[in-house]
Amino acid sequence: MAGIYLHIPFCKKACHYCDFHFSTSLKYKKDFLGALEKELILRAGEFKNETVETIYFGGGTPSILEVDEITAILKTIEKEYNVIEFPEITLEANPDDLSDKKIRELAKTDINRLSIGVQSFGDKELQMMNRAHNATEVKQCLETATLYFNNITIDLMYGIPGLSNAEWKKNIEQALFYGVNHISSYALTVEEGTALHHFIKNKKYPEVDENVAAAHFHILVSELTQAGFDHYEISNFGKPNFYSKHNTSYWLATSYLGFGPSAHSYNQNTRSWNIANNAKYIKSLQNDELPLTQETLTVKDRFNEYIMTGLRTIWGVSLHKIETDFGVEIKEFLEKQIEPFIENGTLELKQNQLKTTHKGKFLADGIASDLFWI
Ligand code: SF4
Repeated sequence: MAGIYLHIPFCKKACHYCDFHFSTSLKYKKDFLGALEKELILRAGEFKNETVETIYFGGGTPSILEVDEITAILKTIEKEYNVIEFPEITLEANPDDLSDKKIRELAKTDINRLSIGVQSFGDKELQMMNRAHNATEVKQCLETATLYFNNITIDLMYGIPGLSNAEWKKNIEQALFYGVNHISSYALTVEEGTALHHFIKNKKYPEVDENVAAAHFHILVSELTQAGFDHYEISNFGKPNFYSKHNTSYWLATSYLGFGPSAHSYNQNTRSWNIANNAKYIKSLQNDELPLTQETLTVKDRFNEYIMTGLRTIWGVSLHKIETDFGVEIKEFLEKQIEPFIENGTLELKQNQLKTTHKGKFLADGIASDLFWI
């Protein structure tokens, strides 16, 4: 089982909080598509013994591509890779790109899952984040998209300064109203070098308050679990049978190949990442060279990564796996490290499975880093 990730490095506007790799100029789009095709062909040998079960168009903004550009990429993948009969194929899309016509056209392709970057149902928050869409476009696109796709996930952002608990709850209610089967929800974080960081430093925006984010998170968990969603990863909620297969494979450490500038790849022993620069990515592939850097993962790296991802999911961390994959010394180290967290009720150990409790969920990343083997 393996996955393919495609990074489409273009966006209409730069969202104030974003530190992903993208360009707001479409100047290199045609050359990028040529380079992406070349990368898909050059790296096919890396997956000669793998079966591709999921394909994920991420970015950037993949919905910026024309439908025939998307189908051309899928055709190359189908030709070069061993893809199962009905793979999960997700397209990240922004509401302003999802006209009725485009949704209808996308529904005729092999794409069977839309990941819509809603972020908020409120114009105030959308403007503050500098999103390219408004609340009316969100509603219009969800009305149509739910007619043509039954597997839809939306992104919602919480912890936005000025967003009250009542307003946040209303956002969640709106999402439920449209009957989406999956929601990914992240706290607004301030990354260095982003416009948001600059505005906060210059007192143009209020600081992000962790207590507000924590309150929003608890509302989110309570509303969505009551509505029948499984909280299967710290930031992901899905109805049964609607978990993201692609992202689950990341969390369960199966192999994936990432294509396009800044995309990462992983195969249990190594991790690699492509250059985060569109022009250099294109030039390198035009010269038949792969624009990537690779590192071999040590036992320590693999252990730390397993702890980090495992504690974020409902599957948790298996102590049996720790012993067989990483050795008895690391298992004993972990058993010692988890004692205070078991005592304070943020972790629980049942039948050799270590999981975060309800109390520990919001703190999962911090707990994981305290358990790292350094
Ligand atoms: S659309 Fe997504 S990738 Fe593009 S700037 Fe906004 S958050 Fe970043």
